[in-house]
Amino acid sequence: MTALPDRYCPADGTRIAADSLAWCCPVCRGPLDLDYAPTPAGLKSLAGRVGSLWRYAECLPLPRPDCTLGEGRTPVVPLSATVSAKLDFLMPTLSFKDRGAVLLAALATRLRPDRVIADSSGNAGTALAAYCARARLPCTVYVPEGTSPKKLEQIGAHGARLEVIAGDREAAATAARAAADEPGVFYASHVYNPYFLHGTKTYVHELWEDLGGRLPEVLVVPVGNGTLLLGAALAVRELHSAGLIDRRPALHAVQAAAVAPLAEAWRAGAEDIGPVLPAVPTFAEGIAIPNPPRARQILRAVRESGGAFHTVTEDQIRHAQLDLASQGLYVESTGVACWAAARELPALQGRTSVVPLCGAGLKTGLATHPG
Ligand SMILES: [Zn+2]
Repeated sequence: MTALPDRYCPADGTRIAADSLAWCCPVCRGPLDLDYAPTPAGLKSLAGRVGSLWRYAECLPLPRPDCTLGEGRTPVVPLSATVSAKLDFLMPTLSFKDRGAVLLAALATRLRPDRVIADSSGNAGTALAAYCARARLPCTVYVPEGTSPKKLEQIGAHGARLEVIAGDREAAATAARAAADEPGVFYASHVYNPYFLHGTKTYVHELWEDLGGRLPEVLVVPVGNGTLLLGAALAVRELHSAGLIDRRPALHAVQAAAVAPLAEAWRAGAEDIGPVLPAVPTFAEGIAIPNPPRARQILRAVRESGGAFHTVTEDQIRHAQLDLASQGLYVESTGVACWAAARELPALQGRTSVVPLCGAGLKTGLATHPG
């Protein structure tokens, strides 16, 4: 069995044993990173490999697990002369979260906890419930009260136990973290567990392969907890360090104007977010995160890439969703935020860019009432 890489705290350097169930830094309670700097395979050696994200085996900290559902290898289609979309809603559970969830389920299979827990009111919880079912791992998902019955039904259908917590999304996260500290529990957090980022990074490895060993000038990425953006930054670093790209794309991060703590910190020139404000309803509920634990890392990654933060209004989100639908693409309202930015914001015009369409429209329907 290949050895697992160690984990460490990026804030204070505390190291955690690879096979520990600890989910955060014991010193500062912050999220952990993996001590892992792999070298990607060259373009030619990828030919003929498995048609899922597991084709990038050299860059993944775990071997292809039995619980794979064939995730990854989503198509890229043009939306305009300079902007293309990567259709990440074409995944087993209909969102890009499958890229990370399969890594967490594979890791849990390896660590053999008594049970797996997660907290999410949306795509991450659904993805984890599905992959835990596939891996035959007992899974509990903490959701806030008021979570839509359709989502509860899907999570329950996969056999996960639901813990409905009074209060908002943050209350559900707090309840999950309390349970996560109990012995024998694997906290499959898409925010705290670094394996998730090493799954989402395959989004960029696929782009690089599909564009013939190149990346666009700009990667536009939606940011709430920043799991796709931080994964993209990891992949860019891996490809650049290996000499497989000579120019790094700029990472342009998009938030809904309604809940934009990172964009506001960016405008203020700050290295971290300011005082946490309560979430307000937005069509982009999947990125409405008032207090992202990896805020400092996200701001640094965007700065180092030469990118910037942008916000989109509720009207821009609504129009982008209708515009995509008119082009044959039915995408959930959070997942259209990047197209809303790429088609309208002057800073993003005239450069080649790729936007992810992160979730299927059937998950939320059309944006008519925020929240
Ligand atoms: Zn720490």
